[in-house]
Amino acid sequence: MKHNLHIYNTLSSKKILFTPLHVERVGLYVCGPTVYSDVHLGNVRTFLSFDLVFRYLQFLGYTVRYVRNITDAGHLENDADQGEDKIGKKARMEALEPMEIVQRYTVDFRNVMHQFNALSPSIEPTATGHIVEQIEATKLLLEKGWAYESNGSVYFDVELYQKTNHYGKVSGRVIEELLAGSRELEGQEDKRSSLDFALWKKASPYHIMRWPSPWGEGFPGWHLECSVMSTKYLGTEFDIHGGGMDLKFPHHECEVAQNNGCNGTDGARIWMHANMLTLNGKRMSKSTGNTLLPAELFTGKTPHLTKGFSPSVVRFFMLQAHYRSVLDFSNDALLAAEKGFDRLMEGLRVLQRRTPTSFAGPSQWNVEQWSASCQAAMDDDFNSPMVIARLFDAVKAIYADAEGTVPLTDEDAARLLHTMQEWLYVVLGIPSASSHGSENRSAAFEVAMEAVLMVRQLARVKKEWATSDAIRDILAKANIAIKDGKEGTTYSVGA
Ligand code: AMP
Ligand code: ZN
Repeated sequence: MKHNLHIYNTLSSKKILFTPLHVERVGLYVCGPTVYSDVHLGNVRTFLSFDLVFRYLQFLGYTVRYVRNITDAGHLENDADQGEDKIGKKARMEALEPMEIVQRYTVDFRNVMHQFNALSPSIEPTATGHIVEQIEATKLLLEKGWAYESNGSVYFDVELYQKTNHYGKVSGRVIEELLAGSRELEGQEDKRSSLDFALWKKASPYHIMRWPSPWGEGFPGWHLECSVMSTKYLGTEFDIHGGGMDLKFPHHECEVAQNNGCNGTDGARIWMHANMLTLNGKRMSKSTGNTLLPAELFTGKTPHLTKGFSPSVVRFFMLQAHYRSVLDFSNDALLAAEKGFDRLMEGLRVLQRRTPTSFAGPSQWNVEQWSASCQAAMDDDFNSPMVIARLFDAVKAIYADAEGTVPLTDEDAARLLHTMQEWLYVVLGIPSASSHGSENRSAAFEVAMEAVLMVRQLARVKKEWATSDAIRDILAKANIAIKDGKEGTTYSVGA
């Protein structure tokens, strides 16, 4: 497969040409949410960044296995080895079963991602569904000497690992500084070194989610689930692992150490990190309460906003920033994004309603070159803001054609419409006007219908009436009525 996609790899701190391990298949793993509370817009940004990656890889023709886990056990309050399980705590506070909490927020998460028109991953494995595999991986790390048992818990021996490996290759952290920073922390008494992290933790009597193991009743460490599930579904070596910047340390650093300990590889060849969404300059975060929820955004019922915004506008707003840049959320920024979004959609409508001109050509504006420039932008580490800039160039071309200053042939106009829709709907994942917030399939349907109408329009221009009539009749049988009017051809379903 020929392409020129370059991806920024955190491990080498530079962009590299993407060459998948298998010719046509790509393995992509993304750390999913911990399902103990509503997802906020910061979480949404990270998942939309990887939705863009997933979409573009598919657009290039790859068959992608996209694994995004659901963390439903093992993630403790302090993101390390201390405190209560986040889900267990919520269950205790609400007097519910932990799995009721998990179910509630998993459903909520899926609904939210659906509202933002994100594609579903190929597999959504859960930590609790892979306890056996996590116990096996812990046993393997013990056998290989990378881990030790202490008082019913099992820890990864970071100092030993560091002697032959580089602990810090993901996060750039320096081990001496980490040591200095972690000595004072509580709950280190079972560990050989304060840097060691839990693979398996002994459950205290009040810990609800617990499983039997060779070391007694306990639960897996948070980092282990991602190593185990990525290996199980994508292999000991696979193409891309993603997550938010804040997961570089300790989560991804520990994943890489575990992968090397178990299999002698980093797991993924490319580690991608999406940057943070901030609110008033501060990171949006569940723990500090500096968050905005999708529902608040849609309704505008929050002191941060003067009105509500549609998921499409918010998606567009997020894609106007590169995934590795910090993006600050504000009312003004959203109003500006909405204006831009409306301008783009209006341009598209002008093109959709264009009346054929029979201009003999050649077109004064090159559609193919334009589309290639969109691809070049995406090939440069998924540069969505650049693609959006190119889409605005296309809008200018649409008006120049409409005014007759830079005319397009009918064929090129039809091609431009089709290509613009492909970039907007298929790659950027903006839902088409008629499918706002509804299933992604509608966007695909819209693109397909535009293609069909384009073929019919070309047939009409060439006076190939048999073809154009056949298309109309086939569509009529499927209850899709098409109407040729002054403003071009429109269609309606089921009327
Ligand atoms: P969590 O549910 O806390 O494990 O987070 C799920 C994902 O959201 C992780 O990949 C985090 O890196 C990401 N995330 C959390 N806060 C933000 C933020 N403010 N901006 C972007 N991504 C975030
Ligand atoms: Zn993870």
